[in-house]
Parts: sequence; C-alpha cells; structure tokens
Amino acid sequence: MKLTCPENSCHNNKFFKKDGFYFRKSDSKYIQRYRCNSCGKRISTAQLSPCYRQKKRTINHLIEAMYCSKVSMRRIALNLNVDKKTVARKVEFLGLQARMFNQKYLQKLRVNPVEHLQFDDLITKERTKMLPVTISVAVDAETRRILALVATQIPAFGLLAKKSRAKYGYRKSEHKLGLEQMFQKIEKVVAKNALIRSDEHKFYPEFVDRYFPSAVYIRYKGGRGCIAGQGELKRLARDPLFALNHTCAMLRDNISRLVRKSWCVSQSIEKLQLHLDLYMKFHNTKLI
Ligand SMILES: [Zn+2]
Repeated sequence: MKLTCPENSCHNNKFFKKDGFYFRKSDSKYIQRYRCNSCGKRISTAQLSPCYRQKKRTINHLIEAMYCSKVSMRRIALNLNVDKKTVARKVEFLGLQARMFNQKYLQKLRVNPVEHLQFDDLITKERTKMLPVTISVAVDAETRRILALVATQIPAFGLLAKKSRAKYGYRKSEHKLGLEQMFQKIEKVVAKNALIRSDEHKFYPEFVDRYFPSAVYIRYKGGRGCIAGQGELKRLARDPLFALNHTCAMLRDNISRLVRKSWCVSQSIEKLQLHLDLYMKFHNTKLI
C-alpha cells in the first residue's frame, strides 16, 4: 500500500518528505512520520496497517490461535486479562481480515486446480436447537485444504419442528442459497474434469450438474458415526468420504461453538460465519 495525502482537496500520493518519528505505546515501536510536499499535512505509515488505532494489537495473534483451538471467548478474555468486549471486537476484526485472506488464497489456487473435491453439510444451531443452521463444507480431498465454509439457516426438523413453528414462526430454508454461494466460491478453483464425492442429499446433484457438468460425480450412502469423531467420523472400515468427515470432525473439535453438548452457543449466523472464516484461514495456513 502507498501513502496518500489525508487532505481531501490534495491529490498527492507520490511526494512526501520524512518528518520525524513517534513512539507507539501499544507495541513499543517507532513509527515514521511524513509530510506532504504540496500541502504540508503530516501522515504516518501506521495508517496503512489494518490494526490502525488498536490499543491491544499485540494480543491479536494469541486471540486467533485460542479462538481456533476450542477456547471460549470468555476464557480468552480471562487468560489474556482483557475485557470480554475487547475479545468480541477483536474476533470480528480478525474474522473480516481472514475473509479477505481466504479470497486471495482461493485465487492463488486457480493455478493448480483441485482434482478431487468432497463436500457435505454440518448441522449446528443459533441460540437454541429450535433454530438450526447448516454449514456447507467443501474440502480438497488430496491436500485436506478447506475450500469453502458457508453457514445458512434451515427450519427445525424432527420432533422440534412443530414446537419451533409455534414459538419462532415460519423459518425459511436458505440451504440452497448457501450451496449456491459455496459453488460460486469454488467454481474456478476445482478442475472441470475433477472427481467429486458427496453423500446422497437430494439437493446436491442439481448444483454439481450446473457448475461441473463434465466432472465425475459419485454419491455414497452415509455411515453411522462413532463417538470419538463427534459423530462426524464414521464406523466404516474404509470411508470414501474420509477427508471430508475428518475435516468436519476437526471443525467440531476446534470451534468451541460447534462442539456437541458444549456450553458455547452461536448467537447469530453472522458471528458464526466470521468464526468459520477465521478457522478456515488458521486451518489452511497452520495445519496443512
Ligand atoms: Zn497534501
């Protein structure tokens, strides 16, 4: 990024003179100041950083690591000796940064398109089990990279369906919308003649036909879950969807709000999506 003059009427973005330093207390660094050659306004390189004006920038990476390792937001605040509102704000900031990172990450993958794709959905909830949410997951089965995570609302099912309608009213299913978003994200990352595997969900074939008409698409019947894998790892001897199921089990084990029978619960889909974006960055950069 390049310096631009802070004065609106001045369009100088080239000519600056060095003009002293200032000491930034939050991370004990000296920051170079510049002066605009045409209007004389002062500007510093600190303004180019996405962390500009953050007072606790040194704990950003610690929050990211803990938040992607099953630590709850309250416990992060306790451990780092900061307020829980600070953690909530940081997590939102980090999530948005990770979202931009993931976009660039997928663009880079276009050079070497994915040859073997596996995708599925993972069920969770917002606030109560009567408001379920589905997370569409796409995984590169060869490298185990996460290619997309999209959270969308679905209506309650099973015994809770009637009770949910009585209490919260009609809940529209946005599952197809989520799948559409997921396929748009990975459309250019996956090779046209790739091998695609999924389970037998009735929505899936229409999307695969539309986005990857020349791909080899195989569907498998889902197996019973084993307890150690949080219900995601199956009791099959050779699970054809192992890469995907193992990634789902990792999501369940590393994202506090997705753990089964946990005290941590998502309050909104937007916050869940930010958490997923941050985890996707963490998973693809630190674990792969
Ligand atoms: Zn200027």
